[in-house]
Amino acid sequence: MMDTDSIVKGILSRDMRSISRAISIIEEGNSRSYDIIRSIYQKTGHSHIIGITGPPGVGKSTMIGMLSRMLAKQGKKVAIIAVDASSPFSGGAILGNRIRMQNVLSEYGIFMRSVSSRGSNGGLSLATWDIAKVLDAAGNDFVIIETVGAGQSDIDIVYLADTVIVTLAPGLGDSIQAIKSGMMEIGDIFVINKIDRDGSYLAIKDILDNVYNRDGWLPAVVGTDSLTGEGYEKLLESIFDHQRYNESSGRKKIIRYREEVRMALMHEMEIHVDQIMNSLIRSEEMNLPYGEDSDPETTAKKLLPLAYKSILQNESR
Ligand code: GDP
Repeated sequence: MMDTDSIVKGILSRDMRSISRAISIIEEGNSRSYDIIRSIYQKTGHSHIIGITGPPGVGKSTMIGMLSRMLAKQGKKVAIIAVDASSPFSGGAILGNRIRMQNVLSEYGIFMRSVSSRGSNGGLSLATWDIAKVLDAAGNDFVIIETVGAGQSDIDIVYLADTVIVTLAPGLGDSIQAIKSGMMEIGDIFVINKIDRDGSYLAIKDILDNVYNRDGWLPAVVGTDSLTGEGYEKLLESIFDHQRYNESSGRKKIIRYREEVRMALMHEMEIHVDQIMNSLIRSEEMNLPYGEDSDPETTAKKLLPLAYKSILQNESR
């Protein structure tokens, strides 16, 4: 078994075995993961985190393969986190693709790992945030995170990523759907992939007509063919532009830090709530026949002072 100190040293010297071990510990939700993150935290902040989202089938995985290879050829260090939708139907097929992809990418020195999104309302699991930190501390210039492109994970990726790329494909009504479902608000760059297909002109036009300036950044709209690499020069340029924009504003990293503190606070609160519930479980109020007790919200409001008391007691210990 590797001890925590040697894992931390290994991460900082980019030792693949230590990085993999750290990721496994984080995924297990082991308390050692806190020790690891605490020890590497001061070494994070170097990576540019790119979140790639969009409906299934638009070519996200293909795109990440192309993009990461191009970055690697420019001498950049790249790691990929593929967030798994954990669908019981497509799971096997996707896994097969990813294993093939992993083999190709490792020849370029690109590290790739799949993580599950389970247990967080379809959002990014807390583990994803910590894994991104490990890959950051390991000296990657870019950490690319592929999400499933539905609901909560899209909201989370806005906090986690420095640059959010929304990927769409022509001819599936995707662009109209994306405009309606609020994707315009989350994308820093919009990619219309599969420009070799009919309808790409219209799809690009739909998005161009709907992008708007957010805090001094007008989202770039790029057409790509991920099978040939067409459009990738412009895509890379847009990513570097957005990276420079972030560096000058500094906002993204502050927003991310606040969100991380909020999540950590929620997690701490949850522990207290569990403790309070355990201590009350035998009390009279908690064992009345349903309907004779006060409604749950009223009871919870009554218990709130107890929750604060428990937190303060723990503090003073
Ligand atoms: P994901 O579900 O968004 O990750 O999509 P995939 O990367 O798995 O791609 C879905 C399919 O689209 C695969 O068969 C790819 O080979 C294909 N594909 C990806 N990019 C392009 C493209 O630019 N043009 C064309 N014609 N096909 C593409």
